[in-house]
Amino acid sequence: MKKEKLVIIGSGPAGYSAAIYAARANLDPVLFEGFMSGPAGGQLMTTTEVENYPGFPKGILGPELMDAFREQALRFGTRAFSEDVVSVELSKRPFLIQGATTQVHAEAIIIATGATAKRLDIEGSRDGEFWQKGVTACAVCDGAAPIFRNRPLYVIGGGDSAVEEALFLTKYGSRVFLVHRRDELRASKIMAERAMHHPKIEILWNTIIEKISGDNVVKQVRLKNLVSGKTEEKEAGGVFFAIGHEPNTKFLKDQLKTNETGYILVHNGTYTSVEGVFAGGDVQDWVYRQAVTAAGSGCMAALDAERWLASQGIE
Ligand code: NAP
Repeated sequence: MKKEKLVIIGSGPAGYSAAIYAARANLDPVLFEGFMSGPAGGQLMTTTEVENYPGFPKGILGPELMDAFREQALRFGTRAFSEDVVSVELSKRPFLIQGATTQVHAEAIIIATGATAKRLDIEGSRDGEFWQKGVTACAVCDGAAPIFRNRPLYVIGGGDSAVEEALFLTKYGSRVFLVHRRDELRASKIMAERAMHHPKIEILWNTIIEKISGDNVVKQVRLKNLVSGKTEEKEAGGVFFAIGHEPNTKFLKDQLKTNETGYILVHNGTYTSVEGVFAGGDVQDWVYRQAVTAAGSGCMAALDAERWLASQGIE
């Protein structure tokens, strides 16, 4: 089995930025882009307009931005494998990276596997119930489907994602209800105001969805007001979870130190608890979680890996 200098796992802004820097530093990186775990390009592949990525004053579509990242990484010689990494063996060097079909040894690894949208375990929302039959965790990916057209839609959450999804869904639903468990939004002021002033959005404060029901697709939700305890059945065409994300670290099988919610802990830039393993992007960032910060930390991870490899006499 060939021994690589550097393997990068993950293909969002962090993974591709790491690949661009590593390839230009002649580290000849291998990049595992993922396959079953989601489209190469990460979370931006399921976004529409990205308005806050510097350099694009008129905005750019998420997939278009990620295609450009990918093209730039490949242009400098990154070798990309369209497969998931199933496991890694970090107890000795060279590390072993087990892909779905490919096995690679590497002196250094950059983990940039990002994070995935969380789901709630509401009655009716599970696999085999109404999951993907009106219940989803990505309005931008699924919102344009015919089942949601001109129906009342419910978005759960109170952060920027929830507001963004609610605004997006106003293009399709007859009305959009933002279901939030508290009496104050977590979303940034500008986003919160957009939601509060939108004629098609209504915020249901101190409210949860207790049950989702229907026939082949979602038809109703049971809402519960957490202050009064009152419940009511309402017509619904769809339920969208927008309650945050979970880092994609299962394949690591606890070999790296993480915080209590599973995000990889880094120090001195992007160094993890195992020497030779670096982490960039949302998998180690539970605070900023932006495309531009992910790209920045991917670049840092490549520079850290390059310097560390040089210190080991590997150039
Ligand atoms: P978030 O800020 O963590 O918000 C998650 C929301 O879900 C919170 O309102 C939370 O309620 C609610 N929630 C969590 N668990 C819940 C549960 N079990 N039941 C009911 N509600 C629950 O996540 P996010 O909105 O995905 O945003 C993540 C980061 O990305 C933030 O830094 C955000 O600013 C950024 N972001 C920015 C943009 C933009 O600028 N365009 C767009 C999307 C995301 P509580 O408030 O009660 O905790």
